[in-house]
Amino acid sequence: MIPQNFTYQAPKTLEEALALLADGTAKPLAGGMSLIPLMKLRLAAPERIVDLGRIPGLNYIREEDGKIRIGAMTTHYEIETSPLLRARCPLLATTAAHIGDMQVRNVGTIGGSLAHADPAADYPAALLALEAEVRLVRAGGERTLPIRDFFVDVFTTALEPGEIVREVVVPVEAPGTGTSYQKVAHPASGFAVVGIAARVRRGDGKIALARLGVTGLASKPFRADAAEKRLEGTDGAETDLRAAAAAVTEGVEANSDLYASAEYRAHLARVYAVRGLRSALQAA
Ligand SMILES: Cc1cc2nc3c(=O)[nH]c(=O)nc-3n(C[C@H](O)[C@H](O)[C@H](O)COP(=O)(O)OP(=O)(O)OC[C@H]3O[C@@H](n4cnc5c(N)ncnc54)[C@H](O)[C@@H]3O)c2cc1C
Repeated sequence: MIPQNFTYQAPKTLEEALALLADGTAKPLAGGMSLIPLMKLRLAAPERIVDLGRIPGLNYIREEDGKIRIGAMTTHYEIETSPLLRARCPLLATTAAHIGDMQVRNVGTIGGSLAHADPAADYPAALLALEAEVRLVRAGGERTLPIRDFFVDVFTTALEPGEIVREVVVPVEAPGTGTSYQKVAHPASGFAVVGIAARVRRGDGKIALARLGVTGLASKPFRADAAEKRLEGTDGAETDLRAAAAAVTEGVEANSDLYASAEYRAHLARVYAVRGLRSALQAA
């Protein structure tokens, strides 16, 4: 299908882009992997498109003060293959490798993926487990949100009109931390039927830190707090992992569709949580 007519604007600076976006009537364009199909299906019909692709300085991965900063226009492929991320924050690089196919990873960006907020997207699970922060900017201001405050509902984020994702901030992993991303990919779309990001750290022989980010299961990605609490302080034995994984679906209203019923999705989440925790512990 052909999209509705729109005006295309390609600013050369961030300030110019924010001014063009300020009144909230235009949509930013990043990789176009989600926005263009939506426009072709006429599920989105913005009057103006502000292309972020000509703005220098929005594509980077760099370490600063014990954190890694990733510019919004950094592609999935750049994240997947970044030597810095692979060495210092491998969960994000590993997760990026699960996104779509090579063509999508070459063009799609982390900022676009977060702003799109598909409930079956991969990054949110990892970023929740990493307790990442997201830096948002608008004309004349900026704010930083913990990632768990960013996702509001299906395809809905905390972004205000005129505001864009500027960068994502993840920690440099402390020694002894192990991580894993386990995904059940939908056979047609490749999106996560369920995706579990596990992050664990041992201290004095016990599990000192457990973080579990979950995507695909519910209307928005979430941290499995109850499961984390159940695991912390244990020896990390197989029975501990299973008890923790059982809590991943507690109180969660699981998604249901033609491919996977709510019951099946919840079952997958528990099974993949055990696998994720086991694999993260082996890596720790
Ligand atoms: C065939 C196919 C398979 C895919 N499989 C997967 C998968 O397995 N897992 C997965 O996670 N994703 C998957 N995706 C989605 C992919 O990751 C997209 O790259 C991503 O959802 C959107 O990123 P983008 O850069 O293309 O953004 P765009 O499509 O350009 O924009 C998406 C939305 O975000 C807004 N936006 C873009 N950048 C910003 C910004 N910096 N600040 C604020 N708003 C912004 C746009 O206005 C738009 O509303 C798939 C996509 C395709 C086409």
